[in-house]
Amino acid sequence: MNWLTANRLANLAAVKAHNKLGIDTASYPVDVDAAIDAAGLSLMYRPMPGLFGIYMEANHQRGILVNAGLTAANRRHTAAHELGHHELRHRPDPGRECAIDAGTGRTGNVRGQGELEMTAEAFATWFLMPRKSILAALTDMGIARPTSAAEVYLLSLLLGATYRATCRQLVNVRIVNRAEADAWARIQPARLKRDAATGHALNSTFDMDVWSLLGTGALNVRATVDDLLILGEADATLAAELPGLSRVATHAGATVFRCESAAGPHVLVDATAGRATRITVLDRPLGIYVPGGQSINASTSTELVQ
Ligand SMILES: [Zn+2]
Repeated sequence: MNWLTANRLANLAAVKAHNKLGIDTASYPVDVDAAIDAAGLSLMYRPMPGLFGIYMEANHQRGILVNAGLTAANRRHTAAHELGHHELRHRPDPGRECAIDAGTGRTGNVRGQGELEMTAEAFATWFLMPRKSILAALTDMGIARPTSAAEVYLLSLLLGATYRATCRQLVNVRIVNRAEADAWARIQPARLKRDAATGHALNSTFDMDVWSLLGTGALNVRATVDDLLILGEADATLAAELPGLSRVATHAGATVFRCESAAGPHVLVDATAGRATRITVLDRPLGIYVPGGQSINASTSTELVQ
């Protein structure tokens, strides 16, 4: 099997799964946890050093285990990959060594492990990034297509997908050309994080992300504890009042906030600029997924108007 065939199969399976599991592909990010629950599977996050995820069966109940130690995008990608095994009717197999393209040099293994791994991997990409969802995020960013690695990085954060998978999917759905995407994919996410931090020194770029929200449109931000938010003056004034965020520094008109604890959703309304940014800070998931626990559509949002 080649990637073209894997992508075709995965695209069809992902469209079918979106319909069946009630995923709204016109919005972002795709709620993969809720989808796994809707598929009738148990979902559990736990530390599993050296592993990404497992699709398994015990006592006639099928479920998915995801390594809680992965970054947010890698956790979501792994969960979608395991859902892919289920939706593609692959046999539950705790011995299967699932590998995702996490930029760890293990990518080659995916192809080496044959058809099942390739289609599950392609499924994850199509499931998390349907074309309409990408377009919704780009519209909110106020652009028709990304023209820089920094924009692709922010897009990947909004979609809750890995940076490299986002580069690939932008080619699959014909939003950018392959040469452009390949050049962006060669840039290390660590560098993009440092650039997004606008001069604020990062202790570590591991397992945290930097959301540069300067001058962008009406975004739906779902950050994780320890992530940094970079806000312009109007948003920073409002964000200073919010629980869960702490102001770390200000560099040249950009204020750096650290996400300290689960909070939100909060909506920062900049009436002058006519835009609103919705910010939710999530805990790292651990244990069994409970529907509605950190629901994407939580209705109790605080609105702050500048
Ligand atoms: Zn797998």
